[in-house]
Formats: sequence, C-alpha cells, structure tokens
Amino acid sequence: MIERKVFVRLADGLHARPATQFVKLARGFASNLFVVRADKSADAKSAVKLMLLGVKQDDEIVLRAEGDDEVEALAKLGDFVSGSDGASADSENPVVAASVAAPKAIGDVKELRGVPASEGVALGPAFPYFPRTIVPPRHTVAPDAIPAQMAQLERATSSVRSDLARRATSEEDAEIAMALAELALDPALQQRTRDKVAAGTDGVTAILDAGESIAAEFENLEDPYLRARGDDIRGITQSIAHALLGERQPSFADAPPGSVVVADEFNALDLIGAPLSRIAGLVSRKGGATSHVAIIARSHGLPAVLGINIDSQRLRAATEVGVDGSTGAVTLDPSPDARRQIVARIREGEAEKSLWDEWAHVEPRTRDGRLIQVAANIGSPKEVPAAIAAGAMGVGLFRTELLFMQRRRPPTEDEQASIYSEVAKAFAPHPVIVRTLDVGGDKQTPGIVIPHEENPFLGWRGVRLTLDRPDIFKPQLRALLRASTTGNIKVMIPMIAAVEEIRAVKALISECKAELRAEGRAFGEFDLGVMVETPSAVFIADELAKEVTFFSIGTNDLTQYIMAADRHNEKVAPLNRADNPAVLRAVAMVCAAAQRAGIWVGVCGEAAARPDLIETFVRFGVTELSMSAAALPRAKRCVASI
Ligand code: PEP
Ligand code: MG
Repeated sequence: MIERKVFVRLADGLHARPATQFVKLARGFASNLFVVRADKSADAKSAVKLMLLGVKQDDEIVLRAEGDDEVEALAKLGDFVSGSDGASADSENPVVAASVAAPKAIGDVKELRGVPASEGVALGPAFPYFPRTIVPPRHTVAPDAIPAQMAQLERATSSVRSDLARRATSEEDAEIAMALAELALDPALQQRTRDKVAAGTDGVTAILDAGESIAAEFENLEDPYLRARGDDIRGITQSIAHALLGERQPSFADAPPGSVVVADEFNALDLIGAPLSRIAGLVSRKGGATSHVAIIARSHGLPAVLGINIDSQRLRAATEVGVDGSTGAVTLDPSPDARRQIVARIREGEAEKSLWDEWAHVEPRTRDGRLIQVAANIGSPKEVPAAIAAGAMGVGLFRTELLFMQRRRPPTEDEQASIYSEVAKAFAPHPVIVRTLDVGGDKQTPGIVIPHEENPFLGWRGVRLTLDRPDIFKPQLRALLRASTTGNIKVMIPMIAAVEEIRAVKALISECKAELRAEGRAFGEFDLGVMVETPSAVFIADELAKEVTFFSIGTNDLTQYIMAADRHNEKVAPLNRADNPAVLRAVAMVCAAAQRAGIWVGVCGEAAARPDLIETFVRFGVTELSMSAAALPRAKRCVASI
C-alpha cells in the first residue's frame, strides 16, 4: 500500500463534475483506491461517497492505493486534484475547465454569458423565435386590383386555418386551435374586412382594423371570459396579415427536433402547451433565473440561459447554438473545438445525473437524524410521473395557474376537483400542497383580463386578484375542499401582505363549506398555509402564524421585493440573489416566528434547490424543501451531508 499527500487545487473541490471526472480516472485502475480527509476516508471509485467527504479547494487530502498499478494510479489521481495534470484540467477534461472559466474566446466566436436559468447543456440548430407585430400600412388599392386583393385575403385566411390545425400537438392545443380557426372564419370579421377592401383599403390594413374593432367590442363586455377574447382576435388577425405578406409567425411547433430556440424574450404563455420535449434548449436576450419562463424550462429539464447581452440581429443570424444552463455560457456557431467541448459537457452532465439518481429514493435525514421533506414543484398532473421517479416526497408547490394558462376559459370546479384529487392520490400518503391561483405579475392567462398596470409585480396579482374575483376563487376553493376527501391536500395562499387577507380567505373557505354542506356534497378539511413572499409578511409573521398551520417561503418573490430588484431584469441580477444577507435574515425571522407559534416552515422558491443554501435553511429550522423534479436527488444528498 502506498500514500500520497496532496493539496486540492480544483476550484469546486471534489464536488459535482470534478468528482465524476476523478471517479472515472480511478475506475481505470485495478488497485483499491481511497481518499482520506481528516479522519474520514472514502472509496475513490464512488462519486457519491467522494462528494460526501466534502473536499474543498485547498484542502489537504491523502490518496491511498493498494494493488498492482498503485504507483501509476496515485501519480495520475494526484496530478488531477493538484491541477498539475494540464491535460486533465484542460483538453481531456474540458468540463473541469468549463465550470470555472471566465468568459473566453473559443476560436473566433466569443462565449457569451447570461443568467443560468435552467441547468443542463445542449447543442443544436438554432431556431429563431422572433414574432413581429405588423402595423397597418394604410395603402389605397386601385378599383381594378380589389378582386385580386379579396382573393388573396381568402387564401391567407384558409392557410392560417389549416396551419392552426397542423400545429396542434396536444388535446388542449387542439381545443385552442379549433377555437381560433373558428374566429378566423367568423362572418363578422370576414364581412368587416371585405367591406374595407371593397372601399379601397389594402388587405393587411383591412384585416387588422376589422380585428381591432371587434376586439374593442369584446373588451367592453361584462363577462370576463368574453373580454379576454379580444387578444385572440388580435392574434388571429396578425396571423392572417403575416400570411398576406407572405411571412409566417414563428411557432415552437415548427422547431426541428433537438433545436435551441433563440429569442429576444419568451413569455410564459409561449411555452405553455408548446412541444417542449422536442426542444433542446432556450436562449433569450431578456429574462431572469426566477422568471416563470425559467421555472417552466426547469420543470421540463430544458437547459436555458436568459438575458444574454448580444445584438438581436446577431442572435437571429446564428445557425447552431451551444447552451450551458448551469454556468450561463452560450456559444453561437461554435468552432469544431468548441463543439467538442460542449459535447463533452453534455456527456458529463449525463454521467453526473446518473450519480445523483442513486439518491432519488433515499430518505433524507441530517446526520443528527432530522427528516427533511424533499418535495416537488409541479404545474400540472403531467409532471407527476417524473416527480415520483425522482423521489418526490409529495408536492410542496402545485402552481395551479399553469392549469388556467393552458385553457381559454378557467377550468371548471369539477375539472379542478378531479385534477387535484388525481394528484393527491398519486402522492398519498405524502402531502400535496396546492397553491391557489397566482396570476398577474408576469403570468397572464387567456381566461382572465388583467387591465394594463404600470407595475404589474406591485399590482393586482395572487390573492389580491382572487379575493376580488370570487367567481374564480370560490370554484377553486370548493374544488380543493371536495378533493380533500383524499386526506393529504394542503392549501397555501400566494402574495399575502396583510393579516386581513388571510382572514378574508378563511371566511371564503367557510362560505364554500357551508354551500357544499347545503348541497349535500362530500368534502374534507385541508391545512391552510401562507406563502411568505412579501417583506410585509416577514414583518407580521407572528400574527400570520396564528392564522395558519404552515408557512412556505417563496424566495423568488421575496428576493425581488426585499432587494427591490425585478426577477426578470438581468441588469439587476447581481442584486436579485436569494443568498443576500438581507434575504437570509428574512428567512431566519420567518423561521423564528414559526417556531414561536409551533408551526412548520418550507421553502418552495428556486433557492430551495441550491446546494449552497440548503444547509442554511435547515439550520434556520426549515423542514421542507420543494423544487423541480430534476433537482430532488441532489437536494437529498445535500440534506444527508448536514
Ligand atoms: C416564489 O415566489 O418563490 C414562488 C415559489 O412563487 P412563484 O415563483 O410562482 O412566484
Ligand atoms: Mg411567488
């Protein structure tokens, strides 16, 4: 047996990717190999055990080997960790270098940096997603050209119609597509357009003006559902105008499989119902890590980098894109060398993931025996199988607004009751925490009109909106009560800023119970919680804790409101950090208030999945962490090392 003492010079220590690399090297030798740090040792051929040693940069470790190739093994492994193995740190193991490197030039193409919004690495053909809003050109058409203009309009309308049918990739999409196709052929729209063309207006202006006048009529109606149809009309008339000009609006459905979609900006509605399983990655010039676009990307395991600082034309011109959602690196049209590096990172990512997977079904306890619930954030029942496979101990945040965003009209009480009980049954006996509708801010939904606001994130969102709209809120609460016969549903309320709000919610729940009782319908009880995501909720946590049975800290909003730094604005991203002491102190205050009142606290913002913050949260007293499915096994591993 021989030993070698060595200082670790890898920037990440023996964690994550470097550990995977190290294990790969170790497995190439027949000898028994160990890494010793302080008084603990670990098998060098097990990355999980190695990571649990917690070896950091500049730690001194001992490498121990016993076997026929022990000399060679120690030389190779020692050089790797001490960084004197130039080959392993650079070309042979580009991942090690990539994870610590500053922006650098690869070939003649600069590697760009943006906000790392959803982990994973991808390389694929670029698919430009730059929808253009056409402004009416207001040309006059000569009388002899009018028949041709009419014929063009007809052709454009029918091509948009068949396009809609072709693009529908799911049942929900098909429902939306059919409804929009009906609108395109609507006689009122057609007649108004034809009248304008007959009077000498060009076809593009005619269809857009006709659409605008009908949209304005919809928006004057009482019924909130019908009011929301104005935008549908505008959308469809824009599509017809594009067809008339021989242009096509880009659609995710047209993206070739494996492509990286590049855009100035995505909005959450673009992604809902899009065939994301065919897409390899997302890159955009605007957007932040806790935007809902990032959250949707994460829930689909789709690598994404948002907020890259590049000219729109340059991004649009890219033909191939490499994206690393863990580091925020984006490479446009990579050189052969850069491609090789990206492909190596993709392979590394796959290897790393299979390592974390070993932790999926482990019960996560701290070393002193505290069990932490590690649960999933989901947005629809479709995400349940992946969450269960990743070892979710229930659902810590069911973002129900995503159900509303997939439909043109809010889901009915019956539809909601069946969705909530389906999800609850799938996870029983683990809890499923359903968050009531949280639209507004960056989340628009086709079924609810939110008037223009100067500051939507400081405006009519979450519980503020639902308390004003009992026609939407009560069916959801009734559905939750009905689904609660399963016994494992809990409900939490978003954007609480005042005690009166949670009291008003409780009064509404009592009203719903009385109605259900009078109707003779079966219902159950659910635990009620408050999402702590406004600074005011932190300051009144003692009072709020008396009203509910748990808190769930929404670090995404809490961070943006405490730091006064928009979660979408990449320019203030350095301030929008959940690890800022101001945010962490707020989390500690909430935990202390919960402890005084004897209620439990979870974290369901994106910070819950951060390996560097999990220990801090647990030390503060957090007993539940909820995150996207892909992050669950790693979080369990983190808990086990506390
Ligand atoms: C949060 O704000 O942290 C949260 C979990 O809610 P959302 O991201 O949906 O606003
Ligand atoms: Mg929130």
